[in-house]
Amino acid sequence: MISKYAELEERLRRTPARWCVTGCAGFIGSHLVERLLQLGQTVTGLDNLATGHLHNLHAVERSVGGNYQRFTFVRGDVAELADCQRVTEPVDYVLHQAALGSVPRSIEDPLASHRANVDGFLNMIVASRDAKVRRFVYASSSSVYGDLEDSPKREERIGECLSPYAVTKRVNELYANNFSDVYGLPVFGLRYFNVFGPRQDPNGAYAAVIPKWVDSLVRGEQCVINGDGLTSRDFCFIENVVQANLLAACAEGSQRGVFNIALGGSTSLNDLYSMIRTSLGEIQGRVIDMEPRYQGFRAGDVRHSLADISGAQRALGFTPAVQVAEGLFETVRSFVPMDKPA
Ligand code: NAD
Repeated sequence: MISKYAELEERLRRTPARWCVTGCAGFIGSHLVERLLQLGQTVTGLDNLATGHLHNLHAVERSVGGNYQRFTFVRGDVAELADCQRVTEPVDYVLHQAALGSVPRSIEDPLASHRANVDGFLNMIVASRDAKVRRFVYASSSSVYGDLEDSPKREERIGECLSPYAVTKRVNELYANNFSDVYGLPVFGLRYFNVFGPRQDPNGAYAAVIPKWVDSLVRGEQCVINGDGLTSRDFCFIENVVQANLLAACAEGSQRGVFNIALGGSTSLNDLYSMIRTSLGEIQGRVIDMEPRYQGFRAGDVRHSLADISGAQRALGFTPAVQVAEGLFETVRSFVPMDKPA
């Protein structure tokens, strides 16, 4: 049976639309731009390069060839309304990804997180309302579940936020639903769990675990596991997240909603480490014997995080196709290009 996503891709190929992707030079944003351009769409991207990189856009250009002409990059700030107005007029769909990620970053600098994630969000949704876009899709986060211990997490029950970052994402959801009710703007929020894939930044104090570990192993450095390694997450490969965004943008019917976007499976840090080492070992045999170093638990980390994805499956036809091991293999290969053996 042909999936809803395959049907959507076919439809988009036949009927190009205009899209705005904020955070386009970042990890998730650059993959959205890439897929949309591959499908012959016209895309305007906004990014201030706070954590994103032009080399991500150069990689997109290499991947999509001539279709890159359909892309316009605007270097600007979502916290500036004029920049948001510039990129939303005229577009059909907005995929709002720009934000300062990372829980620890928000604890160190809540003002910066608020400015990018809340002021920036409000500007983008106001500009999208005024531009009468067909759908505003935005990146929320599993962090809104906070201290709730339910497993798996279902959309309707959330806990107390454990960080300023979580507060910003919760505020996004409140604003989005409110804009849908008050102004009739069609909105969908996507609560991403731990997304991973090529182009995720391995550098800096706030890097996510997968690119950090892959990068360390490639350089022959020992990886550090916080806690006993039994902490688990619902790791989701980027391709599944791209699928969710496109399905959400083009979904018909529902005016508003927020959905878990994940694989719906649990992977412990110990298993994650083994999978990365096995994948990399096929390219760089010497890593096979490398053991991780364990240190204390990191403050504020939840022990287990697993998503119930039945809401997105039912409402959007979301069917995450890429499993963790397969996604890791692709991710690892992107860190060690095959034509440049390390
Ligand atoms: P990323 O840091 O790679 O991308 C974010 C992009 O937004 C960067 O390119 C950055 O330069 C840009 N940006 C930040 N502040 C901006 C501003 N004021 N104006 C314009 N651009 C700005 O991170 P990502 O992993 O691609 O995350 C994308 C979105 O997904 C974010 O909203 C993040 O909170 C959310 N999210 C990500 C994950 C994950 O696992 N990666 C999980 C949950 C939620």
